[in-house]
Amino acid sequence: MQLNEIRIVIVGAGIGGLAAALALRLQGADVTVLEQAEAIAEVGAGIQVSPNGASVLGALGLGDAFEAATIRCRAVVLSDYRRPAEVLRLDLTKHAADQRFAFVHRADLIELLAKAVRQAGVNIRLLQKVERVEPGSPPVLQMCSGARITADLIVGADGLHSRARQALNGTARPFFTGQVAWRAVVPNDQRLPDEARVFMGPGRHLVCYPLRDGAMVNLVAVQERQEWAAESWSHTDDAGNLRSAFAGFEGLPKALLNQVDSPALWGLFRHPVARCWHKGRVTILGDAAHPTLPFMAQGANMALEDAWVLAEELSRAPGIEVALDTYQNRRRPRVERVIAAANGNAWKYHLRSGPVRSAAHLALHLGGLVAPARMVRQFDWIYRHDVTRGD
Ligand SMILES: Cc1cc2nc3c(=O)[nH]c(=O)nc-3n(C[C@H](O)[C@H](O)[C@H](O)COP(=O)(O)OP(=O)(O)OC[C@H]3O[C@@H](n4cnc5c(N)ncnc54)[C@H](O)[C@@H]3O)c2cc1C
Repeated sequence: MQLNEIRIVIVGAGIGGLAAALALRLQGADVTVLEQAEAIAEVGAGIQVSPNGASVLGALGLGDAFEAATIRCRAVVLSDYRRPAEVLRLDLTKHAADQRFAFVHRADLIELLAKAVRQAGVNIRLLQKVERVEPGSPPVLQMCSGARITADLIVGADGLHSRARQALNGTARPFFTGQVAWRAVVPNDQRLPDEARVFMGPGRHLVCYPLRDGAMVNLVAVQERQEWAAESWSHTDDAGNLRSAFAGFEGLPKALLNQVDSPALWGLFRHPVARCWHKGRVTILGDAAHPTLPFMAQGANMALEDAWVLAEELSRAPGIEVALDTYQNRRRPRVERVIAAANGNAWKYHLRSGPVRSAAHLALHLGGLVAPARMVRQFDWIYRHDVTRGD
C-alpha cells in the first residue's frame, strides 16, 4: 500500500510513539504526533536497550547517534546484598561479543528520536490531550480542548493509561503485584564500571548501571511489600524510606543508596496484554497494548519492535485493516512470551529463606563457572530477534 496517501495521527510522544512516527514517515506517510505534555521530556532515569531494540533504531538511521549517546554494557554481575564476592558474572564482551547491550539516559533517547522525527517532516503538537478515541469511520479523537480530529489511521502510543486501549478493549483491571520500584540517578562517585550490577536480598533487589559517559549511575530498587503505591513516576518518596527498606545492604549498594536525594516511587502492577490491538482504523502499540514489569528491561524494546512491524505491515498490505491484523498476529505472541518471562523473574532475586538462597546462589555461581555462554544464550530468543529482518 502506498503510505504517502495516508494521514496518520499518533497519540503520545514516548519512545513507542516517536519510533512509530519515524518508521511511518520513512515509508512516506503524512504523520502528526499529539502529545499531552508541554514539552517532549522524559523522567530523569536510565533505560537498557538490548540488541533487538537497537536494531530498530539502526534501521531507522539512528545507529550512530544512538551509539554516541549510550554506554555499552560489558557484563552482568549478580551479588548477594551483604557480601562483596560475586555470585555470577556474565561477560558479554566474551559470550555475546557480536551484540550491543546499551545503557542510555531516557531523555537522551527521546531527544534523538524527537530530533529525527522533526527532521523527517513530522509535526509534533504539544499540549494536545486526547480525551476519547472513537474508532468509527473515519476514526475520531475527541480532544480535551473540545476539538475533534480525524485521520485515516490513529495509533494509540499513549502508554499505561491509554485512552486508545480503553476504546478497543474497555477498562482494564490491573492488579498490584505487591512490589514497588524506586528510581534515582546519582553521581558515579563509586566509579562503577560499564556493567549492570544486581544486588539480591530477601524480598528485594537493587539494579545499577552507569549513564552518560560514566558520570552518573542509574538505580532501580525493587521491594516486595503490601503497602500500595501509585503506578506513575510523578510520585517522589523520602530517600529515608528507600534506605530503610534496603537496610542491611552493605558495601557498594549502601554507598549508592546513601547518595540518593528524592527518589521516584512506582507501584508495579500486572496488566493483561490487550486482547484487541485494532478496531477499524485505530491501533495501539507499546505500553498502551502491553505494559510489562521491568524485570527483563523489555518494555521500551518491545515498543520499538512494535513501531517497526506496524510500519512494515502497513507498507506491504493491500489495505489498512489487513495490515493491522497482520501486525497484531505478528506481535502479540512475542510480547506475551516476553512478558511471561518478566513476570517470572523477580522472585529469583528475592529468595527469603537462608538455605534456599544459598543453594540458589551456589547454582548460579556454578552455572557461571561451568556454562557461562549457555546462561547468556538462554535469552537469545529475546535479544537476537530482529524485526528489521522479518522476525
Ligand atoms: C522501573 C522501570 C524500569 C524500566 N526499565 C526499562 C528498561 O531498562 N528497558 C526497557 O526497554 N523498558 C524499561 N521499562 C519500560 C519502559 O519504560 C516502557 O515500556 C516504555 O517507556 C513504554 O513506552 P511507550 O512509548 O509505549 O509509552 P510512554 O513512554 O508511557 O509514552 C506515552 C506518551 O503518551 C502521552 N500520553 C498519554 N496519554 C495521553 C493523552 N490522553 N493524550 C496525549 N498524550 C498522551 C504521555 O504523555 C507520553 O508521552 C521500565 C519500566 C519501569 C517501570
